[in-house]
Amino acid sequence: MNIKKVVSQHLEMERYFCGFTVRGNPAPEAVQGDILSDREVDTMAVAEKQKELEKVTDEVCSCRKCELGSQRTNTVPGEGNPNARIMFIGEAPGADEDAQGRPFVGRAGKLLDKIIIACGLKRSDVFIGNILKCRPPDNRDPRAEEIINCLPYLQRQIEIIQPEIIVALGAHAAKTLLETTKSIGQLRGHFHEYYSGLGKAPIKFMATYHPAYLLRNYSQDNRRRVWEDMKKVLAELDLPIPERG
Ligand code: URA
Repeated sequence: MNIKKVVSQHLEMERYFCGFTVRGNPAPEAVQGDILSDREVDTMAVAEKQKELEKVTDEVCSCRKCELGSQRTNTVPGEGNPNARIMFIGEAPGADEDAQGRPFVGRAGKLLDKIIIACGLKRSDVFIGNILKCRPPDNRDPRAEEIINCLPYLQRQIEIIQPEIIVALGAHAAKTLLETTKSIGQLRGHFHEYYSGLGKAPIKFMATYHPAYLLRNYSQDNRRRVWEDMKKVLAELDLPIPERG
């Protein structure tokens, strides 16, 4: 491995996603107002959503449905705005997330933060969750039985929050939620529909590359693809699209 090349690619990726913030994004307060402006902010309803989400969190915290429950340090139920217009869904917690009990706080999480900021948003504007709520040992892929046991928690979170758009990060989240075997290359770049329950309107669904994949497979094309996907999400929500730095 050429360490120099890896480091310079990583720095370039950081600059690419940081550039948007430097270029005069709206003030954080204005951003918060913007992203929620189309959504009726009914304080009671939001409090109710928060209460329901806490119930899910409590259940996750005492869950022992699979062996991951006895191996975890902390559960990682997910976190964010109960009234979020956008939900980001990853695969499963890694070592940093398991240690802190919070989603996307390691290296991939730092890149996700940059992508969110590049969109003119804050982490507290969105909700971030995972398909699995506990870390698989050695970061192995989630197993079918683990997904079957854990998915209902995420499904309930989606049902409570009713986001306008779900952004699936990576193949596992996209394929699981869309119930398809298509590749992330085939799924990303255009909207799909996610059905959160009988009688509920379908939720727009965008799949994009996982930040960890971006870190491992750095290329101008890959980072541009993620930004193109996010621009579609912002356009769909009528949110301003920050200029590239
Ligand atoms: N990768 C994920 O898919 N989820 C996390 O929370 C962290 C890394």
